[in-house]
Amino acid sequence: MIKHNKHLDNVPVYKPGKPIEEVQREYNLDEVIKLASNENPYGCSLFVKKAVENEAVHLNRYPDGGAYYLRKKLASFLSVGEDEIIFGNGSNEILDMIARVFLNPDSEALMFQGSFIVYKIVSMLQGAKVKEVSLENNFQRDLNRLLDAITENTSVVFIDNPCNPTGVANFKDEFDEFIQKLPDHVLLVLDEAYFEYAKQHNVPDGINYVRPINPKIPKKNVIITRTFSKAYGLAGLRIGYGVANKDIISKLEKVRQPFNTNRLAQVAALEALKDQAFVKFSVDMNEKQKEYLYEELEKLGICYIPSYANFIMFKSPREDLYERLLEKGISIRPAFGFDGYLRVSVGTPEENEKFVKTLKEIL
Ligand SMILES: *Cc1c(COP(=O)(O)O)cnc(C)c1O
Repeated sequence: MIKHNKHLDNVPVYKPGKPIEEVQREYNLDEVIKLASNENPYGCSLFVKKAVENEAVHLNRYPDGGAYYLRKKLASFLSVGEDEIIFGNGSNEILDMIARVFLNPDSEALMFQGSFIVYKIVSMLQGAKVKEVSLENNFQRDLNRLLDAITENTSVVFIDNPCNPTGVANFKDEFDEFIQKLPDHVLLVLDEAYFEYAKQHNVPDGINYVRPINPKIPKKNVIITRTFSKAYGLAGLRIGYGVANKDIISKLEKVRQPFNTNRLAQVAALEALKDQAFVKFSVDMNEKQKEYLYEELEKLGICYIPSYANFIMFKSPREDLYERLLEKGISIRPAFGFDGYLRVSVGTPEENEKFVKTLKEIL
């Protein structure tokens, strides 16, 4: 008998949104609309395509593990030191590195109920105890409750702001207060995967907690994770980053695989960063289209949760809605952790209209 890591047994399985090709195969469909993984429906910057083509001639060579050029650009973009950044094969890989460095069977990971499922997976694999703090009415999150739940065994607190899948966010004032009260033995992981979409709505810019500009905010143990997978439109290339003080970063660097981000991803992320006009276009379109979807859901009497990201969680008006949509070539997702709720990503105007039209046909 081979023996495996016994922590594995209770680890939940991550169920990704169904890829377009899979739905086409399973349901024998030509046309499938995917609104299941919060990807950018407008693709990515045109500069990215050119840079990736040019880089393709070097595919026989290993990438630069240190991501020299991208690191320089990102450090200046964020006004942080080059040694305060770590890159990951998607920000998911950074979450994994954090768990490996900071969690073990004696420690606790703390998070809100219904947080991004990856926190639970990476924590449980370390054998750490996962503690979940319950939500308030309408899926709201009270940061004071999180503070109350911290014990001397708590090593890491994970917060996705906004939260995936509810779309709920906590605002700057709440966070400023929370950070001040955060005990020194705790590492806060602030997952800002949707920061570009949320920042116009008074959510904090977590980077300010890594390097406080406001002297009233004391320096705490914080790591911010962000990604090129969402607003930047590079989900298929797998690249994200973490920002923290160099002490935390140097520990994480020890568990990072030497060539974890590939050549194409590095040049793509660099070009994507330069093209903020594309990001702005994507974010503006998302706001308009989110309003459109709100209105249409209301007309259908469907209860939804207002969202600060590029997706909407709503109460499914019938049990088989997810399946019925799939049969008609529309892939959305059950909202993990929230029974009876579905999550739809905000698509292009055409995709959203098709989704609404199909929803009307089914109901
Ligand atoms: C999509 C998402 C991520 C990012 O994943 P990548 O690995 O960077 O593609 C991280 N956190 C949350 C909450 C997300 O929804």
